[in-house]
Amino acid sequence: MNTQTKMAIVAIIVVIPLTSLVVYGTDTNQQFTNSDNSKLQVISSFNPLYEFSQIVGQDKIDATLLVPVGVEPHDWEPTIKDVQEMQKSDIIVINGIGFENWVDDLIENNYSGIIVDTSNGIDIIQSEEQHNEEQHNEHDDLLGDPHIWLNPVYAKIQVQNIATAFSNSDAKNSQFYHKNAEEYNKKLDLLDLKIQKELSECSRDFIAFHDAFSYFADEYNLNQHTILTTTNSHGEVTAKTLENVISKARELNIKVIFSEETVNTKTSQIIANEIGGKVLVLSPLEIVSNDNYITKMTQNLENLKEALC
Ligand SMILES: [Zn+2]
Repeated sequence: MNTQTKMAIVAIIVVIPLTSLVVYGTDTNQQFTNSDNSKLQVISSFNPLYEFSQIVGQDKIDATLLVPVGVEPHDWEPTIKDVQEMQKSDIIVINGIGFENWVDDLIENNYSGIIVDTSNGIDIIQSEEQHNEEQHNEHDDLLGDPHIWLNPVYAKIQVQNIATAFSNSDAKNSQFYHKNAEEYNKKLDLLDLKIQKELSECSRDFIAFHDAFSYFADEYNLNQHTILTTTNSHGEVTAKTLENVISKARELNIKVIFSEETVNTKTSQIIANEIGGKVLVLSPLEIVSNDNYITKMTQNLENLKEALC
């Protein structure tokens, strides 16, 4: 490296922190004087994306969660008031892959902000039930399986997509958004390694409630079986389905049947009783919880270990 290059690098290193200080200083003042106008107005469609948006944006954004507490996002539709709120926002963060079935209407109604599709750059798994005539419902029209957030490796891409979108809309805080995303993604890397390591010696087959863990199963070389064959947690459980799941559980010597926080523990319990096993929760993280993403994923890991290891 010649002296000139060295000088240039030193100059860059010195200049960047000074500029950053000036930018942050100005920002702090703005927050006191014109409060919310200086912040990005960000609406996130459901809980994990709301958490990721807050982690990336922190005090530089006003974050709002769209789907109310206790509501399962698969079937949720916005009210007129929700749509009005959305129209006022700068950014709407969505999962994509058809998970937000209201988003086309919003675009048709000339939404002027930015819609961030966090599935950008992710390899989408096609849902199997699309071609299954017997279980036809409106969700069969989805293009693919939306449950990407349950794979921490994909959650990292979602976090990165959020940081890029915030940076594009608010360039002066670009470094701030990217730094927050990088720091959080390091934690997701640790989570990913932990899941990989702790499940590596265990058996592979598990029975989830609805078809939410395909991306997770692919990442960690597990085989997901489900009580509901749909990617929607509101599907019907028939006697025939129960029979099939029970024989599958017997065949694979499975002793834990998974359920979710909100739905049909009864169904899982019937199966568990039948095979002399028990019910544990495997959360798809779809509804609002007091626990954060990493805590919930770690709880899922603990329950999977109890089932598989
Ligand atoms: Zn789901």
